Amino acid sequence: MAERLIVIGGDAAGMATAAQARRRRDRQDLEIVAFERGHFTSYSACGIPYWISGLVPEAEQLIARDPATHREKYDIDVRLRHEVVAIDLDRREVTAVDLESGGEVREPFDILMYATGAVPTKPDWARTEAAGVFGVQTLDDGSALREWLDRDPQPRRAVVVGGGYIGVEMAEALVRRGLSVTLVERGEQPMSTVDPDMAGLVADAMRGLGVDIRTGVQVTGLSERDGRVAAVETDAGPIPTDLVVLGLGVRPNTALAEAAGLPLGPTGGLRVDRRMRVLGVPGVWAAGDCVETLHRVSGMPVHVPLGTHANKQGRVAGINIGGGYATFAGVIGTAVTKVCDLEVGRTGLREQDAQAAGFEFVSVIAESTSRAGYYPGARPMTVKLIAERPSGRLLGAQIVGLSEAAKRIDTLAVALWNRMTVDDMTALDLGYAPPYAPVWDPVLVAARKAVEALAR
Ligand SMILES: Cc1cc2nc3c(=O)[nH]c(=O)nc-3n(C[C@H](O)[C@H](O)[C@H](O)COP(=O)(O)OP(=O)(O)OC[C@H]3O[C@@H](n4cnc5c(N)ncnc54)[C@H](O)[C@@H]3O)c2cc1C
Repeated sequence: MAERLIVIGGDAAGMATAAQARRRRDRQDLEIVAFERGHFTSYSACGIPYWISGLVPEAEQLIARDPATHREKYDIDVRLRHEVVAIDLDRREVTAVDLESGGEVREPFDILMYATGAVPTKPDWARTEAAGVFGVQTLDDGSALREWLDRDPQPRRAVVVGGGYIGVEMAEALVRRGLSVTLVERGEQPMSTVDPDMAGLVADAMRGLGVDIRTGVQVTGLSERDGRVAAVETDAGPIPTDLVVLGLGVRPNTALAEAAGLPLGPTGGLRVDRRMRVLGVPGVWAAGDCVETLHRVSGMPVHVPLGTHANKQGRVAGINIGGGYATFAGVIGTAVTKVCDLEVGRTGLREQDAQAAGFEFVSVIAESTSRAGYYPGARPMTVKLIAERPSGRLLGAQIVGLSEAAKRIDTLAVALWNRMTVDDMTALDLGYAPPYAPVWDPVLVAARKAVEALAR
């Protein structure tokens, strides 16, 4: 008789798992049922800011595989608008509610894949009945915001609360739609995923785009008029607005798992082994934004909710469920984003992370250009490196620049992944021609500067 795989969550991690498992086991061997409470499967949440801005015109363009494709190509029984509300590990069944009819179904499983993603942080002040307050976690959230933007009277002002990369991308998206945008951040700088000196460059670029950045400001509440949000109340006074976007970060969506008795780690994410098996619970797997993983530099468990990890982890889980062998090797915190024309990349540890992990280190900032200085289109680029003292091992890197900056972080990520020292890096055989780099690539310039700092 065929085994039964139940997948909870129909996006990156869940459907990557299902598709990989199917590639290795046919229907006679493995029946696959996937529950997704939303209206879409396998969509790119990462593309939401570009859909909101209008750069990507249609939501459909963000969908990699719809339920029909999953059914036809992979023989996966996708149940959209079904929310799993309970997991019974003893009976080995899940209970799901059909969100359209209100009906309840129970489905048995032999293998369970938990891939529920993350939940956006929503403080008490954001729990309002007033219309015009949006998260941007799912395509359904994006649809609600798009409708609000197109509605009559069209909103003219927006407040984005939270200056993480999603808040920053959303601020840009709303400016591009012609709104007057204020970004409220309780820290000293937006973009705290990079060190403050690098984040300052991001803040400058946003101000250049016309975003009113208010840092060191705490939101205390929302006020409304006629059932619509009218202002964001802060400890520095009210900010009138026609809409609010929440970008306050996310935490692993593990309430269901916790209720079922699955193990959570210190970050609140599910604890999994390298093959994505939930620790100590046979037949139960997890991947994506709901799990914690190992940081390869600090050695600490971390929650890094990124699509790149969700896809890889789902693939690993699916290969293993399919009878193969694969492992997820951990993360080093590589991420890229853009703010207007400014590209931002980071990998490894920031200074504060290196301190918290107990490293002795030096950090250097090197100014360079994206191309040979004389070549048309050469733009400034700032590279920051953090290297262990005295070993010289690269611990972290950040890049901010106007063009061809973001993907240079990949060179640094590879160096970091392979535990290279900055001294080793100065000898790297990187490509050079005037349209692509100065004769000393910005990465090499920074590595040389780090070597000098270590020698002092
Ligand atoms: C605006 C935005 C921009 C982003 N940009 C980037 C980027 O540039 N690069 C990057 O690497 N990452 C980016 N990310 C992060 C990336 O989208 C996530 O890391 C990725 O989607 C995680 O995949 P997942 O499958 O773990 O979770 P999700 O994509 O969140 O999918 C989980 C799914 O489970 C469903 N679900 C939850 N609970 C239940 C339940 N009980 N029953 C049924 N269904 C349930 C949810 O509806 C959801 O569809 C971005 C995210 C957002 C929101």
